[in-house]
Amino acid sequence: MYNQTMYELGSQPSIIRELFAYGLQQAKVVGAENVFDYTLGNPSIPAPAKVNQSIKDILADTDSIAIHGYSMAGGFDSTREAIAKNLNDRYGTDIKASNLYITCGAAPALISAIKALLADENSEIMVVAPFFPEYRPFITKNGGNLVVVPADKEQFQIDLTKVESLITENTQAIIINSPNNPSGVVYTEETLKALADILTKKGEEYGHPIYIIADEPYRELVYGDVKVTFIPTVYKNTIVCYSWSKSLSLPGERIGYVCVPDQCDHAKEIYDGVSGAARANGHVCAPTLMQMVIERCVGEMPDLKAYDENRTLLYDELTKMGYKCAKPDGAFYLFVEVPNGDGMAFCQKAKEDHNLLVVPGEGFDCPGYMRLSYCVSNAMIKRSLPAFQKMYEAYK
Ligand code: PLP
Repeated sequence: MYNQTMYELGSQPSIIRELFAYGLQQAKVVGAENVFDYTLGNPSIPAPAKVNQSIKDILADTDSIAIHGYSMAGGFDSTREAIAKNLNDRYGTDIKASNLYITCGAAPALISAIKALLADENSEIMVVAPFFPEYRPFITKNGGNLVVVPADKEQFQIDLTKVESLITENTQAIIINSPNNPSGVVYTEETLKALADILTKKGEEYGHPIYIIADEPYRELVYGDVKVTFIPTVYKNTIVCYSWSKSLSLPGERIGYVCVPDQCDHAKEIYDGVSGAARANGHVCAPTLMQMVIERCVGEMPDLKAYDENRTLLYDELTKMGYKCAKPDGAFYLFVEVPNGDGMAFCQKAKEDHNLLVVPGEGFDCPGYMRLSYCVSNAMIKRSLPAFQKMYEAYK
């Protein structure tokens, strides 16, 4: 006997991973230069030089036993203090080291926050389409009920009327991801304030807080002068889940945090719940060396020039061909309407005829679109343009 649910989850690879594996296989057959892989959100710019320098410095100046030893489960105080100071300097907040729980990236941060908020078997967590596909297993395989707010296909902001109509007495939280994967859209402060008003009103009506889980791994990946609102500054009941996977190009190092500010209702219970959920999942501590690196590098910002060039090239060229696309102000994704409205068919044909690997919007609960991760080489984008053109001509 074995666990059927976990077996099913593990034996059905995500469509993104499947396409990525196909790309690697095809590269052996047709040559890597003829495969146009837009599937994975794996950063393509190197970590800032200070990251590698800090690793070298730490190896030279810190006791080996400390570097490779355990830390407290929630992380080193000195690292948490550095993170809190950085947040307070940037956003005028009053976050304390004790509000932070350092995790192995955003995914376990989200799972701990979700688990800490699931009060009983009826508890619901809302997500806004299009959304990161892993939210579904994170919520439903941890005992929660997933409620999907359909996409606002005009602006890819949040359809607030739908949010309001979908809130029930069981709504515990809504996950907000801005800059957004897959749309690349940054939610405006106006949208977030209006959302905060709805959550406050509904929370009062049902007699319990409705939290925002702010999933923010792309917080610093934003282009031009677009502002990313730090959600705790507009809504007190916000729990932040962060990681340096994207901002410092460290996805393999597994380092991030949950932040439960004191201003949250039941802050202590939720923080302890995050800690308990982490423990139940076998979290012992986040990588010690990386905690030391973050303490030194928390103020580092990514050099977004390469992503920005890719974004502009792809957006300009695709829209010139006739494709329609949400305005990509952040992250490193474009979410493009497919000309025939059938994302699955389009993506399948692009794969078969052109080795053009793009992810159908169906995977993000938003059919009729495709997601392109433009954390790729600029040269690959240029080589792939004729394939996009042929696909447009074939489907328009
Ligand atoms: N949330 C979103 C929206 C993401 O796109 C990702 C990764 O792609 C994650 C969370 C997970 O990030 P991490 O690698 O830090 O666990």
